[in-house]
Amino acid sequence: MGIETAAADVIIIGSGVGGGAVARRLAENGVKVLLLERGDWVPQEPDNWSVGAVFFDKKYTAHDSWTDKTGKAFRPNMYYNVGGATKFFGGSMIRLRAEDFDGLEHYEGKSERWPVRYADIEPYYQQAEEIFTVHGDDEGDQSAPPRSKPYPYAGMDHEPIVQKLSDDLRKIGVSNSAMPIALDYRARGKCIRCRTCDGFPCKLEAKGDAETRLVSPALATGNVELLTNCLVRRLILSPDGKTITGVEVDRAGEIAILSAKVVVLSAGAVNSTALLLRSATDAAPRGVANSSDVVGRYYMAHNQTALMGLSFRPNDTVFQKTLSINHFYLGEPGFNYPMGHIQMLGKLQGGMLSANVPFLPKIVGQTMAKHSIDLIAFSEDLPDRDNRVTIKDGMINLSVNRNNLTVHDRLVKRMAGALRRVGYPLVLIKPLIKHSTSHQCGTARFGDDPATAALDPFCRSYDHKNLFVVDASFMPSSAAVNPSLTIAAQALRAADHMLRHDFGITASAQLS
Ligand SMILES: Cc1cc2nc3c(=O)[nH]c(=O)nc-3n(C[C@H](O)[C@H](O)[C@H](O)COP(=O)(O)OP(=O)(O)OC[C@H]3O[C@@H](n4cnc5c(N)ncnc54)[C@H](O)[C@@H]3O)c2cc1C
Ligand code: SF4
Repeated sequence: MGIETAAADVIIIGSGVGGGAVARRLAENGVKVLLLERGDWVPQEPDNWSVGAVFFDKKYTAHDSWTDKTGKAFRPNMYYNVGGATKFFGGSMIRLRAEDFDGLEHYEGKSERWPVRYADIEPYYQQAEEIFTVHGDDEGDQSAPPRSKPYPYAGMDHEPIVQKLSDDLRKIGVSNSAMPIALDYRARGKCIRCRTCDGFPCKLEAKGDAETRLVSPALATGNVELLTNCLVRRLILSPDGKTITGVEVDRAGEIAILSAKVVVLSAGAVNSTALLLRSATDAAPRGVANSSDVVGRYYMAHNQTALMGLSFRPNDTVFQKTLSINHFYLGEPGFNYPMGHIQMLGKLQGGMLSANVPFLPKIVGQTMAKHSIDLIAFSEDLPDRDNRVTIKDGMINLSVNRNNLTVHDRLVKRMAGALRRVGYPLVLIKPLIKHSTSHQCGTARFGDDPATAALDPFCRSYDHKNLFVVDASFMPSSAAVNPSLTIAAQALRAADHMLRHDFGITASAQLS
């Protein structure tokens, strides 16, 4: 095992939305980047759009094993590949509300105030929307934050059944708007509005994921070297504990130590935590970047429930994820507490239901899927110091007690009631709470005070000045909308800060 000085200025660990955004921004400004990714490229192949391969065989899901709070092992729904989880995400790319940054009073407690205000991050939201080709329109969304420019692309049209749902909800007083969504549905764009988007990789490279919008353009600059199948095992600290001097990697059993001036960690909120904790030394006995003892704590992943409204009329919608409901985001008359956000799911198919509910006969699943309209409700889960990721017996342990469920139930009841009133007499509800990892965040929070935060407001470690953490770990609250646009925006902001302060580059190229 030898030390190799990477021919790069910056090592980035993880090629998801956080790592990819930093790689692209730095590379487009002439900084040399070495991008380390434990997985491989997702092949473009017929199985990309196969319900059997994706949902039954879990062909693309990582073969990982973690334990839960009872010590029971489970296979988390993780994706280790170039582009990370965004290769499989639903494409919803939505801004947090301005109020989310201020620390909201909730029914069961308080969410954390962010060390930045919405105005600080707004220009980066705009850039991220342009990079990811977000289609959107805030008309009908009373909670939408102010924007410096309109969405880069017009909102996606609803198909007739969703249009009727939107109109009927408005008639009963439930406001709604277009779902901000990242795909290439521009004139002559690659997207064909297919049925297999949410949960599937895009066979046509039309989805705005971290591979197509960040990693590939970063590689095209010639300033990035990407090592796939390269598992980072440990960060190495200088004897005084102040600097990251190397990164220990395992490539098919070959161990090496790579080094660069700056190290950017973006392995996802759980895996970044695992790396920081596993890298403990005498100089950092609680783990790297963890003098505050917050690393691994305050894990959040949203309270999530799927709703299926069933009607006698078949639902022939192909691309269903076009509607967003923020009517209850900040509460409702007589109840002044945030409740959350609701959006359409990609159209459920019979096979997807049978994969999730094994005892359901196939024919019943198919009939239900044919007649259902499918939504998902998200509510904020509150930061709890004892909800945490640790390493136990060498394995990742995720120990979580859910909170703020009263308002989540209220949100789900309101939505189910509204669906019944607009022609869906039977509404099935499935809480998605157990082992929820899709919206993982919060495990290395940023903040103004090094005693209570691991990272400064630009995601730089308070303990080690040449280390940044830019995945969803930095989020001190989960808010109630999907996280990836916020991760991308903050990663671009952190990259601009790196350019100025670590490389003396003042004018960062604006991404097209
Ligand atoms: C099915 C699904 C649907 C979703 N839908 C949406 C949606 O519609 N909208 C939205 O905003 N969000 C959605 N999300 C969540 C969103 O995808 C994530 O919040 C986001 O991708 C997280 O990005 P990240 O960069 O923090 O981490 P990741 O995407 O997890 O990236 C981390 C990367 O690091 C790599 N890595 C991990 N450990 C190591 C290591 N030790 N060494 C080297 N590499 C390592 C991983 O392989 C991975 O590529 C969805 C998630 C899932 C699973
Ligand atoms: S809907 Fe468009 S972006 Fe999504 S998988 Fe289909 S072609 Fe790709």
